[in-house]
This record gives sequence, structure tokens and C-alpha cells, in this order.
Amino acid sequence: MDIVLTGTGSPIPDANRAGPSTLIKAGDTHILVDAGRGVVMRMAGAGSMPFFLAAVLITHLHSDHVTDLNDVITTNWVMTQGNGNLAIYGPPGIAQFVERQMHSLEPDIGYRIAHHAVLTEGPKVTVTELAPGDAFSLNDVSVTTAATVHAPVHPTIGYRFEHEGATAAVVGDTIPCAGVDELTTDVGAYVQTVIRRDMVEANPNPMLQDILDYHSGVVEAAQTAARNGVKRLVLTHLVPAPTPDQYPEWIARAAEHFDGEIVIGDDLTTITL
Ligand SMILES: [Zn+2]
Ligand SMILES: [Zn+2]
Repeated sequence: MDIVLTGTGSPIPDANRAGPSTLIKAGDTHILVDAGRGVVMRMAGAGSMPFFLAAVLITHLHSDHVTDLNDVITTNWVMTQGNGNLAIYGPPGIAQFVERQMHSLEPDIGYRIAHHAVLTEGPKVTVTELAPGDAFSLNDVSVTTAATVHAPVHPTIGYRFEHEGATAAVVGDTIPCAGVDELTTDVGAYVQTVIRRDMVEANPNPMLQDILDYHSGVVEAAQTAARNGVKRLVLTHLVPAPTPDQYPEWIARAAEHFDGEIVIGDDLTTITL
């Protein structure tokens, strides 16, 4: 199983970091978790395409995690000449979100159907709303889910993947909680969105101060990893985004609490399990 960080950024625009998304490549089965800014461009860089996807799994409906889902839908539609049916899973609310995105795409859908004879109808999607704890299979990958905690954003869902003995958890924005503990138990890799609590605390911007109570800090992610027997801790959605010369300091902070491998994600960083 390969885990490709297709976007390691956050809502803060960054020339080098696409918005949050992570691609799981388990054999021929490609699964995308979240669809932030620039996701289709980064999928191309990762050797994938929307029409390779067994599914898109959404953790929550914050804009940074879903803003380019419309591009995944449209690119899948056009590149499959209208035949591809994109499976989308997410928390309650995802069906209405996708339906509204489809409405926003109506002018484009109309133009392309009018212009291309092979296109006779709009994009096909199959949307499944999940309850935390639901489990399902995508080809030969088993997926389990649990509730995460990102209040007032509710509900939020984290995912665990198993394929041929390899295990990975991708949990999105959350504070440490029972659901994350469950998903990360003994996994080969735990992908966690993080903030540097100390650096955010030092920034007087009130909107940055607000993010302190609903994200994991680097230290908390490391403590979660240690508590649950994780082998590799992969940090993404980095706020504030570090430059490579700052990575050792980020790693040192996590290493005080976790003695496994620690990866500070760049876009297209790949972890092979
Ligand atoms: Zn969020
Ligand atoms: Zn986020």
C-alpha cells in the first residue's frame, strides 16, 4: 500500500501545498480521502486520475477538505466520456453537498452535452452517507470508520484501511478522541492533520486563535501515536506551514512523545507500507 500526500496545506493559501487530501494506492485500488484545493493536479503528479478511483471518502464538510470535489466529479465525467460513476462516501450532509455542486455545474454540463455527441447526460455519482462505525469494502481494501471530534463541525469521520496485511489510518481534523484511538491501533501509518499549538498561540490573529480548540497539535498527535502502537506518524495540513529547515524542530517536538518514524509531509510525499 502506498499513501501519497496529495495535499499538505490548510485553508491558508500556499504556493507549494495543495489543500488537504490523501491518496491511498492499494494495488490497483485508488482511494482518495478529501478533495482540497488542487487535488486533481496533485493526483496527476501521483500517477492517478479521478477515473482510477474506487471512491472518494470525505472526512467533513469544511471547505478546505471539499472545495475541489467538483473538479474530481467533472474530470471523471469528461475523461470517461460520461461512463464513469464516481463513488463518494462521507458524513451526513455529503449527499446534499454533492447535489448542490451538481447544480453549480449545470451550465458546464449543458455546454458539454450540447457540444460532444458522446455525452448524453450529466456526471454519474453514487453518494453514500456514513454513520460512524460503518465498515465496507472497496475492491480488496477493507475500510472501517469512526467518529472524530472537531466541534462545532459535526459529524466528522475518520477512516482506517487494510489491504494484504498493511494498515493505515487517515483521520482528518480532530482533537485526540476514542474514535482516533480505535482507528490508529497498531497501524502501519497514521496520517494526522496538525497545528503547531505553540506557534498558533503566539499569533494574535483571532481567527487563528479559534483553531486551537478543534485540532490536534504535533504533541497530541505524537501522544496518540505512542498510545496506540502506531509505526509511522505522518503529519499533514500543517499550520503554520513549515519550511524544510524547520522540519527537524517539528520532528523533535513529536519525538519527545513518540519513538516511531515521524514524517513531515510535503505534497507528493509517499509512504510505502
Ligand atoms: Zn476542519
Ligand atoms: Zn482542515
